[in-house]
Amino acid sequence: MAKLIIVSNRLPVKLQEKEGELSYKTSEGGLATGLGSIYKEGDNLWIGWPGLVVTEEAKQQQITTDLKQESMHPVFLTESEIKEFYEGFSNETLWPTFHYFSQYAIYDQQLWETYVKVNQKYCEEVVKQAGPEDTIWVHDYQLLLLPSMLREKLPDSTIGFFQHIPFPSYEVFRLLPWRKELLEGMLGSDLVGFHTYDDMRHFLSSVNRLVGHGSMHGWIHTPNRSLLVDSFPMGIDYEKYSGTAALEEVKKRERIYRNNLNAEKIILSIDRLDYSKGIAQRLKAFELFLEKHPEFHEKVTLLMLVVPSRDAVEKYKELKEEVDEMVGRINGKYSDISWNPIQYFYRSYPLETLSAFYRMADVALVTPMRDGMNLVCKEYVASKLDQKGVLILSEMAGASKELSDALLINPNDINQMVDSIYQALVMPEEEQIQHMRNMQESLRRYNIHHWVSMFMDRLSYVKIKQLSLA
Ligand code: UDP
Repeated sequence: MAKLIIVSNRLPVKLQEKEGELSYKTSEGGLATGLGSIYKEGDNLWIGWPGLVVTEEAKQQQITTDLKQESMHPVFLTESEIKEFYEGFSNETLWPTFHYFSQYAIYDQQLWETYVKVNQKYCEEVVKQAGPEDTIWVHDYQLLLLPSMLREKLPDSTIGFFQHIPFPSYEVFRLLPWRKELLEGMLGSDLVGFHTYDDMRHFLSSVNRLVGHGSMHGWIHTPNRSLLVDSFPMGIDYEKYSGTAALEEVKKRERIYRNNLNAEKIILSIDRLDYSKGIAQRLKAFELFLEKHPEFHEKVTLLMLVVPSRDAVEKYKELKEEVDEMVGRINGKYSDISWNPIQYFYRSYPLETLSAFYRMADVALVTPMRDGMNLVCKEYVASKLDQKGVLILSEMAGASKELSDALLINPNDINQMVDSIYQALVMPEEEQIQHMRNMQESLRRYNIHHWVSMFMDRLSYVKIKQLSLA
């Protein structure tokens, strides 16, 4: 029986070691939830790094055996591979380039070579586990070379690839010294998926100009094989977020937080600390809002959660200092004994706490400079059980293509952000409800399960179609 193998940089589990004792913490990310019911079926398998550097062979054996029970298989990475493949090439070369921050990108041959080597390492582990007819679904920018490496070893397998971050315009992508190799790596797939139609167009244009393959309705015909490129906007586990927001415990937390905050209006922002998220621009807009609208002093509070991320990378350390400084300056300027305009938290929170924050926020301010999808804005909408609340969303987030009922903004346009904050705070309730209802209907329907089945169905369709094209 053919099986499905999912491959991603990280496994949906975090391995921890305390005083020699191993423990496994399951992760609750969107992808893990969406694929959770599938990878545990039959002989299906998820392959990836377990999140901890393990050098001892006996321990590696132990982990491999433990994970097998959970339908997972580990790829062990060394300290220097984490540095050069993950922090280096993935997060200091590809991440900035793909998010239109090429000025932050590092071009380093050593990092590239490790990226190739680690992709090969993933390939070997997959090949050890895969049969010739299996379906392999590869995820994201850390593994762009893997589809072609797999194709070489398993020519008859079905290979899908999904990229969770944007694909930039050709003019930006072409700046990468290894641009052609990266595209050729992806072209080993039968189906290449992106969140949006624009990402897909950018990819096709780069393939055309750099590799020389044209396309028709998303089909690329190479001399050997045909493959399809398409867009699949990823949804959330809607029932999980709406269900959590309905819990008594969450409602209780909301009341406590609301009392403690003592603000008439709460604006919420939640992101990982990342320059692509537009945190500094958002703070500038909020500062200007306070300057232009003194009538909201002592009435509005920006609750800003920033989740620590990639703190080994220099650019992220600099950003942390910039954000700390800005929050300090704005609060220093406007706070008084009973009011802080910004409540800033630099840590991560469990679902129940996030849910209480989503419930109590009158406005969610989601303003990335660039984001593949952005799930926070969708989770906010799903948590609004009374349908009151306003979403302000950057048009540079993939989610903006689906959520046209949000107040859409350009994060570089500070004045527009200020006006939108004002508009959101004074929006009549009926209008809020109408917009929220529209967004909820679409998110409930196009949820994470729908996304998985759309991708898998299209992948089967491609295999059938290929036979008639051959
Ligand atoms: N999140 C979390 N704890 C926090 C803050 C955020 O678990 O304290 C989750 C949030 O619920 C969302 C994810 O982190 O599911 C962020 O996904 P998004 O696509 O918005 O951004 P990314 O970090 O993937 O760029």
